[in-house]
Amino acid sequence: MSGEFIVRHLRCGHCGTELPVMGRYITFQCETCFRYWIITGSGLEPLQVFRSPAPGDSETETLLLPFWIIPIDSHLLRHGISQAREVLPGSELNYLLDRIESHDRYSIFVPAFQATNTFAYLKIGKLLTRKQPPFRLVRAEDPGRPVMCALHPEEAVQLMDFIFIATLPESIQESGDFLKDVHLNATSPPRLVELPFEIRGSALYSVVGGFEISSRLVELPHAEKNRSY
Ligand SMILES: [Zn+2]
Repeated sequence: MSGEFIVRHLRCGHCGTELPVMGRYITFQCETCFRYWIITGSGLEPLQVFRSPAPGDSETETLLLPFWIIPIDSHLLRHGISQAREVLPGSELNYLLDRIESHDRYSIFVPAFQATNTFAYLKIGKLLTRKQPPFRLVRAEDPGRPVMCALHPEEAVQLMDFIFIATLPESIQESGDFLKDVHLNATSPPRLVELPFEIRGSALYSVVGGFEISSRLVELPHAEKNRSY
């Protein structure tokens, strides 16, 4: 992120309507044609937003939080891990290989909302990545639903190795020699997906992940905290 301040008129590239600016978010939804846009280094670009709908029978208030989901090449990763035979004890190596092999597709979940600190990104990203939850996806197209995305996809790609490493047992994390050899390769560009979280007092419950986090890890504009969808 640069410290420069650039004043731009943000207009929808489709219908020309001026886009509503919301704090530190880098994504916008046009209020006329409902298309989504994202600020990139070269200007505004169209963005496809996906959403995992919350179960319809839930009576709890649900908050949708955006994540960049990055599918990685698990074959290359398995190969890299196999190369580490000299560094890691067999049991830990097998644990890792088993875990990656048990998924046809392995994705890294990078939080894209405004988090309180880097620890929050790692913690929430780690919990979802470790779980590899299956979820249903729909295209987000309904009006009046801006996405609270504060992280560029390039930044998400830079965080993906750290989040993967955070999912590993501590004994492996301490093996610096091993980690040097492990690099993730994305097989397609990051996809912006909103995942549902139930608001349970001061906790947020991940509907797809099955875990709770403190709502203090997530920075929301004040109005969003009291708003239901
Ligand atoms: Zn428009």
